[in-house]
Amino acid sequence: MTETRSTCPYCGVGCGVIIESDGTQITGVRGDPDHPANFGRLCTKGSTLHLSAAAPVTRATRLLQPLQRLSRGSTPQPVGWEAAHTLAADRFARIIREHGPDAVGFYLSGQLLTEDYYVFNKLAKGLIGTNNVDTNSRLCMSSAVAGYKRTLGADAPPCSYEDFALADTVFISGSNTAWAHPILFRRLEDARRARPDQRWIVVDPRRTETADSADLFLQIQPGTDVALYHGMLHVMLWDGLTDLSYIAAHTEGFDALRDTVRSWTPAEAARVCGIAEDDLVQAARWFAQSDRRDARDGRVGTTMSLYCQGLNQSAAGTDKNAALINLHLATGQIGVPGAGPFSLTGQPNAMGGREVGGLSNLLSAHRDLGNPAHRAEVAALWGVSDVPAQPGRSAIEMFQAAADGEIRALWIACTNPAQSLPDATTVQRALERCEFVVVQEAFSTTATCAYADLLLPATTWGEKDGTVTNSERRISRVRPAVAAPGQTRHDWSIGVQFARALEARLPERLNGRPTLFPYPTPESIWNEHRESTRGRDLDITGLSYGLLDEIGPQQWPMAEGEARGRDRLYEDGVFPTASGRARFSAMAYRPVAEPRDARYPFALNTGRLRDQWHGMSRTGTLGRLFGHVAEPAIELNANDLARRGLAEGDLVEVSSRRGSIVLPLVVSDTVAPGQAWIPMHWGGEVLGGRDAEGAPRLGVNELTLPTNCPTSRQPELKHCAVRIEKA
Ligand code: SF4
Repeated sequence: MTETRSTCPYCGVGCGVIIESDGTQITGVRGDPDHPANFGRLCTKGSTLHLSAAAPVTRATRLLQPLQRLSRGSTPQPVGWEAAHTLAADRFARIIREHGPDAVGFYLSGQLLTEDYYVFNKLAKGLIGTNNVDTNSRLCMSSAVAGYKRTLGADAPPCSYEDFALADTVFISGSNTAWAHPILFRRLEDARRARPDQRWIVVDPRRTETADSADLFLQIQPGTDVALYHGMLHVMLWDGLTDLSYIAAHTEGFDALRDTVRSWTPAEAARVCGIAEDDLVQAARWFAQSDRRDARDGRVGTTMSLYCQGLNQSAAGTDKNAALINLHLATGQIGVPGAGPFSLTGQPNAMGGREVGGLSNLLSAHRDLGNPAHRAEVAALWGVSDVPAQPGRSAIEMFQAAADGEIRALWIACTNPAQSLPDATTVQRALERCEFVVVQEAFSTTATCAYADLLLPATTWGEKDGTVTNSERRISRVRPAVAAPGQTRHDWSIGVQFARALEARLPERLNGRPTLFPYPTPESIWNEHRESTRGRDLDITGLSYGLLDEIGPQQWPMAEGEARGRDRLYEDGVFPTASGRARFSAMAYRPVAEPRDARYPFALNTGRLRDQWHGMSRTGTLGRLFGHVAEPAIELNANDLARRGLAEGDLVEVSSRRGSIVLPLVVSDTVAPGQAWIPMHWGGEVLGGRDAEGAPRLGVNELTLPTNCPTSRQPELKHCAVRIEKA
């Protein structure tokens, strides 16, 4: 038996795993006791990775050879790799020559490795000359990125997991940590056991398992987070709980924020949020450690915030993130052990994707497209004459542009937009209208595969080699335990081979070089990425594959000459802004984009289950992972049933302004009256079969809203208005 150290491919906790294999097949998995994210623990999903890798269903659903569809709707036919790359390069080159580089787009995934991301980002922005490269991380973390950058000056979570054990108050907002980040929740439970006076405040429209563990639960109305935070700051100001010396020494813009929150009295904020005024006041005082100011040897108590999609997946996502960070800056709860605003990452490598600039508005190593000096630096690093200044299309814009005929070719890697993007009908139209769709995938069963003109088989967990970065900025190695099956190839390698085929057709972009992609291994790609970080906030010039093997996963930054990565940022009170000060953000509260009304009287929320992952292409192959929740359903509060003539178990039609689906009704006290919840995982024909025209109903995203945050471009997946009727 061989043992291989790697990383779990599911959530952003980034747990270390030890894979057991017999040389040809993965036979077991256990938590890596030496990995600092999980110290040997795994959740249900992680601990069944070997079963899902070996399941007959998984083997049957793997895409094992390149396939070409000669006409839309036909059965795809085998094609060789060389012919596949020739076809793809010919089609892309023709469209680029006839319609310009912005007529093509790349849609990537937070589950790709950093090396994969690097190649595709360089391919789009460096070789082709389009910034149309975006990722499903747009649906996940882009509001957290924008919130950090607006207030702290850089996309850098300042805390570590070890801060959980050092916090006096834990403020969890818009995160069902118990289900979505189970191993972090275990660490939180450990922390509270070790210090029983640690207090937990949970803010969520749903009474989740996480909320049930709270000392104080604020069941706010959907989308009212900014009103809550403004109200809490109002209380802190009134009670004299802000840290005036920290504000004076390390921040700017506080006067404008103070003016903004003046009208947010606790009574007004509590009214908007739909909570008790006393609870809001209590939350503000606990957050500001009003009763612990001089306790514990003169140390002021510490507050740590954890937050996730409840803040991010919103048309006001950046504002929500920034308003919460305001509270940390106003109370000096940042840059000290056990304190700080800590965004929990959804996907395993959303962070690594941002590090290489894999979003339509970013460049390598946290550089900005809008900055001419940054563009020149990246062009010099890549050896191209320029990087286009015009921001590319973000996820929603990219598919809208394809639906409008402006983007004519899409390359989709390791993600399933036909199921996961909001307003699935528009996405379906986009994929149908596109002249050429390439889907690079490990699995042949995703909804998006049905629209591919070319299907390229990719390796997956247990087969891949590279790195990922987790929620706490920790870079871990991903290592292969078994060989690539069939004709599958690594994602980075598929990108490199396509790039070289395209270079032959676009030689003018090469600037006289033989190739921009001289990579024999993922390590050679990572080394180029490492050099791009020199002098940046995420400088990792002190790190290497060899050192990761030797000293284990490390948190960036780790500049040349440093022995270890950094566990906490901003301890010196200096921020990466022009002035060196953090910036308060004085935003107005904006309600949800699509409020309830008489025709659509329910507020629909969507989210994760404990034991499933995204579109279930891997977790859905194991029967035991359906033991927790067996089938999709809509959850409603019992108070809403009688007056609408509904009963538990009824099949109901759920309709929004964009579409409708049919599924069973379950009564649940986790949702408040007037609200509803549907898990995000099921799609395809499971939910309600086909519509009147015979098109498949694509799941909960038939209903959701593409309206997105004007700053982060993250869509409001956490709220839309629906009506619910007996089917
Ligand atoms: Fe994997 Fe996340 Fe579970 Fe850890 S908590 S084992 S990273 S799914």
